[in-house]
Amino acid sequence: MAISTCSPQTASWLDEFPARIAALDDSHLRRRRRVVRPENGARLQVDGQSMLAFCSNDYLGLANHPALIEAACAGAQQFGVGAAASPLVSGHSAANEALEHALATFVGLPSALYFYAGYATNIGIIPALVGQGDAIFSDALNHACLIDGARLSRAQIHRYAHADLAALDEALTLSPARRKLVISDAVFSMDGDLADVPALLALCERHDALLLLDDAHGFGVLGPQGRGCLAHFGLSGANASPRVLYMATLGKAAGVAGAFVAGSDALVEWLLQKTRSYIFATAAPALLASALHTSLQLIEHDEWRRAHLNQLITRLRRGLAERLQDSAWQLGASLTAIQPLLIGRNDEALAVMEGLRERGLWVPAIRPPTVPDGTARLRIALSAAHTEADIDELVQALGELAVARQPADALG
Ligand SMILES: *Cc1c(COP(=O)(O)O)cnc(C)c1O
Repeated sequence: MAISTCSPQTASWLDEFPARIAALDDSHLRRRRRVVRPENGARLQVDGQSMLAFCSNDYLGLANHPALIEAACAGAQQFGVGAAASPLVSGHSAANEALEHALATFVGLPSALYFYAGYATNIGIIPALVGQGDAIFSDALNHACLIDGARLSRAQIHRYAHADLAALDEALTLSPARRKLVISDAVFSMDGDLADVPALLALCERHDALLLLDDAHGFGVLGPQGRGCLAHFGLSGANASPRVLYMATLGKAAGVAGAFVAGSDALVEWLLQKTRSYIFATAAPALLASALHTSLQLIEHDEWRRAHLNQLITRLRRGLAERLQDSAWQLGASLTAIQPLLIGRNDEALAVMEGLRERGLWVPAIRPPTVPDGTARLRIALSAAHTEADIDELVQALGELAVARQPADALG
């Protein structure tokens, strides 16, 4: 017999979930996961069907590299599989220790702290840096984990319009807070554009603020040898500023998993002492650090991966500019591997994604709340694993879909 403490006519909120999920369906906002297996190059087996994928952040094509797989296996042999506890409780492995030094040297900053995930890094380090009575200044298009980290900190949050440095300057001028933190993606994850890092840093200097840069999409890709956005702008090594905290993830171009934050010795030591998502979490397995050592070497030495990627970006942009010139769809002004094709409506973006899927191409539609309302898009992500023929296939398919869909739009 069911025992209920509610009277029959009182609806429990727990019964509302099916209807709430149906509402997501109705507004084309329900997300679904596909079951995937890697095949050759940029091909994936998706729910059993072979597809050419443009949805991966594996920008250099390293995620399935035999040398990384071998290094991970060797790391498992040497260190085991699990780290067993927080690095502050059970110590951290020699592989993780060495990786932190290698990462700091690679990006040209004094110290680094290695985390198991990028999301956990940002939601932890921001509250370690600022709190009640302090102020955070955040670009409107920042990644969710910067936003969540800012909220967790309880500092006052000033959100400025995307890349509007005049607005940022004004907000910094008006803020009475003594501790000011400016947070920004270096490469914006859904638009692919690059923050003006030198200008951000100049503002931070003028207002005695600290600058936290999230280079999840620049590390490995931007700058000489892929050393990231600071090296790209000449702000690393001897030119590094103690006002910059640099954060990057290791599951994208580096092809493995995890993240790190790098900066001055004092800042990194403080983060080690105060970041709750570091202190109260089990360390990343050392086998990942082993794979990451090999990944760093490939990032540094395989210049051809970046050269090939850049050729593909140019080829895609040229091809789409030509094929979509009569279309309402707009390619964003990105020069990075993230190429957003703005469609507008959620259902329209989903229909284009579906049209591509029928042709064996997988390009994700990105919808609100990940992007602002009315800017649903295809997020085309390119990788060194793609071939020129792969790009041509996508351009051709989008050209055909644009022709097939626009007349109906014009009538509607
Ligand atoms: C992917 C991403 C993260 C999160 O990193 P994970 O290691 O996947 O948790 C953080 N910031 C940005 C800008 C990202 O794109």
